[in-house]
Amino acid sequence: MVDMNQGTVFSTAVEIETARKVDDEQLAPSWIASLQAEIPSVRLHSDFDTLLEHSRDRLPFGRFRHRSKQLTGALPSAVVEPTNVAEVEEIVQFAQRNNLAVIPYGSGSGVLGGTVPFCGELIIALNRMNRILEIDETNNVVRAEAGLNGGALEVALKERGYSSGHSPQSLEMSTVGGWAACRGSGQCSSRYGNIENMIVGMKVVLPSGELMDVRHVPRRSVGPSLIELFIGSEGTLGLVVEVTLKIWPLPPKEIDGTVAFPGVESGLHAIRKVMQLGLRPAVIRLYDRSESERWGGDDLPDDPDAVICMFEFHGLAGVAEAEFEAALRIFATHGGVIIDDGPIRRWKSVRFESHSDAFVDAGGYYDTIEVAAPWSRLVEMYNTIRSAISDKYPEVMLNAHWSHAYSDGACMYMTTKIPAMPDEAALPIHASVWEIVMRHCLDMGGTISHHHGIGYFRNKWIIEELNAGHKVLGDLKRALDPGNLFNPGKLGLTDKD
Ligand SMILES: Cc1cc2nc3c(=O)[nH]c(=O)nc-3n(C[C@H](O)[C@H](O)[C@H](O)COP(=O)(O)OP(=O)(O)OC[C@H]3O[C@@H](n4cnc5c(N)ncnc54)[C@H](O)[C@@H]3O)c2cc1C
Repeated sequence: MVDMNQGTVFSTAVEIETARKVDDEQLAPSWIASLQAEIPSVRLHSDFDTLLEHSRDRLPFGRFRHRSKQLTGALPSAVVEPTNVAEVEEIVQFAQRNNLAVIPYGSGSGVLGGTVPFCGELIIALNRMNRILEIDETNNVVRAEAGLNGGALEVALKERGYSSGHSPQSLEMSTVGGWAACRGSGQCSSRYGNIENMIVGMKVVLPSGELMDVRHVPRRSVGPSLIELFIGSEGTLGLVVEVTLKIWPLPPKEIDGTVAFPGVESGLHAIRKVMQLGLRPAVIRLYDRSESERWGGDDLPDDPDAVICMFEFHGLAGVAEAEFEAALRIFATHGGVIIDDGPIRRWKSVRFESHSDAFVDAGGYYDTIEVAAPWSRLVEMYNTIRSAISDKYPEVMLNAHWSHAYSDGACMYMTTKIPAMPDEAALPIHASVWEIVMRHCLDMGGTISHHHGIGYFRNKWIIEELNAGHKVLGDLKRALDPGNLFNPGKLGLTDKD
């Protein structure tokens, strides 16, 4: 354990109660009083419970540690809750003058440790910057503060007859700024696009404390996209304070169904054809056998290899119905038969809930790893990864579904379950499972993340994926944030990069 001017840093796994005692005994860093004096309007917390709450996100490894009453990394030194852009600018300028590391914080629903502090960082929580600033019904865009909860955005839009089309499973647990910062993707991505296709304007407080304002226009050819630079930057390059998103009138028709295929390969071929022929399903999800059993239940056909695909089309009535029928014809040519709609009804009833709680509460180790690859590699990648895991760890269950489809490939979303056992036995297996999946993914031409991002937990593999591009990222980081004060150590950006 080392004490730094910014707070207390724990270099190894630390019991939460030990951290509580240290926190009780030590004096708050002197800069906390200065911050309160210089920006009296801003709400600041430094009590242990608030620090503990902001010491982790939804990273499963952090959850396992928390269950064993340990911290994931360190405690932050304080949490500030600005209410407007001017306060954010003042806080960032204060951090620059005092050489303080900061972490932008949305809702802490990230699953890669993006908000986990390691050196007593100051957390800048956006929960009080949660207003919708404008719903522009001529240009079909909404302007919102970055801390706005995704579910609240959708409720407000729905009242006016619109949707953003962004529907991550974590809709109600995440913020619009977090969507941008993590380069997120929603369940309806094949119709409405991913977050990078939706954000058309952005305001960012840069590490210098200046405000960058990229105003909304339908498209620009004015150098590289500065919005894109911050989409996926995970709090390392600046703090997103406002986003402008496209919105869509609620579709007059939504038509869905469930199809059974004779196996994963035929299901993936059928989805590839649907996407390559230009159909635009809102939802299209194929499940491997084990996940098909979970969602299909008694509705699964007798064939022991049968897998299910849930799908949905949105749009004007005639158009959505015609696309639905066209998809059914394509499915049929690959052995797809429509079955009872029980599976998609069951999925829809829990689509915005977390599915890991019961398994983790019973002592097991549940994680998810989403990757993406071109169609030509997907089946081989699935089979290779599954065999590699079951050969080495027969006790580990690895299942998959394919939940975001494109004309050139798809996302493969894997769930890994290690049964209940002591941490000393399980955590090395957990780390090894990640290593095996990431290794095969890199070797087989995939990307290490489709939408969860990097945080710190994927640091080990980002350099290999981006190769010289990671140096470019490091150069950008140094240019924008020479003191390495913004979310240090995330995206593989350590001091030495
Ligand atoms: C059950 C569950 C299901 C999920 N399903 C999906 C899914 O379907 N699709 C998907 O894309 N993700 C999903 N996620 C992951 C997560 O919800 C997303 O990454 C989400 O976008 C994070 O938003 P947040 O506001 O909680 O960000 P946080 O967790 O608070 O922060 C995440 C990262 O973004 C940075 N950050 C946050 N806000 C800002 C800001 N305003 N400016 C700069 N940096 C910022 C943080 O520093 C951190 O690095 C899921 C998570 C869970 C727990």
